[in-house]
Amino acid sequence: MFNALVVEKDEESGKTSAAVKEISDADLPEGNVTVAVEYSTVNYKDGLCIGPGGGLVRTYPHVPGIDFAGTVEASEDDRYSPGDKVVLTGWRVGEVHWGGYAQKARVNADWLVPLPKGLDTRQAMAVGTAGFTAMLAVMALEDHGIKDGPVLVTGAAGGVGSVATAILANLGHEVAGVTGRPETADYLKSLGATQIVAREEINETTKRPLEAETWGGCVDAVGGEMLARALGQIKYGGSVAAVGLAGGAGLPATVIPFLLRGVNLLGIDSVMQPYDNRLRAWERIAKDLPMDKLEAMIQPATLGDLPGLGKDILKGQVKGRVVVDVN
Ligand code: NDP
Repeated sequence: MFNALVVEKDEESGKTSAAVKEISDADLPEGNVTVAVEYSTVNYKDGLCIGPGGGLVRTYPHVPGIDFAGTVEASEDDRYSPGDKVVLTGWRVGEVHWGGYAQKARVNADWLVPLPKGLDTRQAMAVGTAGFTAMLAVMALEDHGIKDGPVLVTGAAGGVGSVATAILANLGHEVAGVTGRPETADYLKSLGATQIVAREEINETTKRPLEAETWGGCVDAVGGEMLARALGQIKYGGSVAAVGLAGGAGLPATVIPFLLRGVNLLGIDSVMQPYDNRLRAWERIAKDLPMDKLEAMIQPATLGDLPGLGKDILKGQVKGRVVVDVN
């Protein structure tokens, strides 16, 4: 028997509830690799899946946790052997499939990557899906050319934003972090942000499709008005990597920045990312994300803390990266 955070749904009321329970190997779903999970994390999507599901969870009882790192316990796949350290992000694990909020997980070998050299399992989950996605966003900006001037990071004190800030600063870019929490200014500066932009400054609707060319690029975790506004402030030929929707799924923008300034809007998906690019992103994380900065982002947690943390992240109240020690 081992511990897992199990979400159950009351069929009559439709309400879900999450609690730590003992389950056994026989309860685990089908898969060809069984992993002794060491660490998981809390991402925005986890908040949805710990709670009412947001349409992501199909069947109950459910074990959430969209990412985990641990040690292979048993494998029917030639690529992995007992004792191998592995990481999983994406593939709808923790949503459609059972995830990492348990001391064991059984998954498809195709979904795993070997633990990147230079990281331990705790650091890999301090990065987690949020940090992995931040790296994908930075890589996409680089592929299209980051222009001179500060790179704007929205939702800066959140998971994606914190890691994006630290990586961009370490790569030598000036970083302007947008936050709705002024009290996180010192934290963001410690990660390398040189400018703090108040959320209200950039969250207001403007009728002007083009404003002063201000930012050399943008990693946007927020969407909605903020993304629309950022598009009109990007320098000629610059790009915005659209990662998230913490502020809304709408995009009340015009096409003018694309047509008159050649601005690129780059979509970032971490879930179905091909294997080779996953390896490339993890290698870049190990090289370009300073581990002391990663350490400063960590908020430690246990399985029992997850119901509360799930609510917090949906309210935008989690700072940096939560690392869940499932044991
Ligand atoms: P977090 O909650 O850690 O960070 C989101 C941040 O956005 C908050 O900390 C807050 O930052 C800001 N924010 C929250 N609500 C609002 C609002 N109403 N208006 C403006 N800003 C707001 O989440 P993650 O970093 O884990 O994820 C960020 C987004 O990226 C989510 O939408 C998530 O679903 C998405 N995502 C997408 C992935 C992909 O594959 N495309 C993968 C991973 C995440 P502050 O307090 O600094 O203002």
